[in-house]
Amino acid sequence: MKLHIDFPRLRRDLTELGAIGRTAEGGVSRPSFSEADMRARRWLLDRIAAAGLAARVDAAGNIFARLGGDGPAVMVGSHLDTVPNGGTLDGALGVLAGLECLRRIRELGLPLRHPLELVAFTDEEGRFGGFFGSYALTGALTPGDIPGIKDTQGERIVDVMARHGLDAMQAPSARRDPAEIRAYVELHIEQGPVLEANRVPIGLVEAIVGIHRIGVTFHGRADHAGTTPIPDRKDALLGAADLIRRGRDLVLAEGTPASRLTVGVVQVKPGVANIVPAEVFLTYELREVSAEMLRELAAESRALIAEVAEAAGLTASVETILDIPPVPLADAVKDAILAATKELGCAYMRLSAMAGHDAQVIGRVAPAGMIFVSSKDGRSHSPLEFTADDEIERGANVLLLTLHRLAADGGS
Ligand SMILES: [Zn+2]
Repeated sequence: MKLHIDFPRLRRDLTELGAIGRTAEGGVSRPSFSEADMRARRWLLDRIAAAGLAARVDAAGNIFARLGGDGPAVMVGSHLDTVPNGGTLDGALGVLAGLECLRRIRELGLPLRHPLELVAFTDEEGRFGGFFGSYALTGALTPGDIPGIKDTQGERIVDVMARHGLDAMQAPSARRDPAEIRAYVELHIEQGPVLEANRVPIGLVEAIVGIHRIGVTFHGRADHAGTTPIPDRKDALLGAADLIRRGRDLVLAEGTPASRLTVGVVQVKPGVANIVPAEVFLTYELREVSAEMLRELAAESRALIAEVAEAAGLTASVETILDIPPVPLADAVKDAILAATKELGCAYMRLSAMAGHDAQVIGRVAPAGMIFVSSKDGRSHSPLEFTADDEIERGANVLLLTLHRLAADGGS
């Protein structure tokens, strides 16, 4: 009989974790270092201990469990945090399926040539900008950045972590030598419609989309809404509206079908009905799987920002919030996933990941791979996120065979 996970046990874990931070709409809210996230962390530490594995929490708050001895590890994981009112599988699936794989391999006593290591990364979803844990692990987090890292309410990560007894300034010491990471594998829901539309259960991820997120502030002038004639105004919101519309046109005209632009945050100051908007901050986020196209769209967008500001009599300032190049995934990991898929006899297709994942951060320093299972109607970051149990089970079994290949017979 083939190696397989204990699905009822994984299902129980998913249900228990899905109850932590549950919302009235049936989703979950576990922003990083919220009370719900802290409960989820404690719960995971308990589950790791119950599996007879040793847990460790690093200076960035990343949680680890290790099986096997010394040497470069085959890592598996994802994240426990969620967007506000998100789904129960985004992140949780990768962590809990990874835990189940370690548990299964341990209880079967399968010999390992390389250790296996489970990881649950801190703040993948971005309360504090995203990827705090994987940046720290890969050495991409510099001490100078940390005091300025805040959530959208202006709460500093330094203060939030301190409330939980963690010193954010120590997070860069969570860095691991990339040579310690033999491979990293992440099982995740697709969060898009491609697998479902093609009626294929498993996605073999070829590359992960790059993200270029900037914060744009238009500076105008506060004036009386009644006494200031329209042509005399410096209305910061007008510049923002122009950018949102023309940015979309730019990306549709110049980009590829994989290009995305999203303006998800707009803050108007002073935000009063009878005052002309003096200042508007917005986030402007580009995604692309081609590094060259992403660079091009970013450059053209900056030119557009200058142009719309000038046309509206405003000044504009731009700060880079997130700049993650697209990451092609490693052949060695993709080959292991492919072999696992074939061993299980399930259909698969190759596709790109259009959402950000810790795998793209790890993939910059070590061989990384991703396995997708389908998302019903492509829904995610929503309480409507859903993947059928048999698909979750199949994905977790592909993960198990992949990890076993990489850790047990992975060659030299
Ligand atoms: Zn995720």
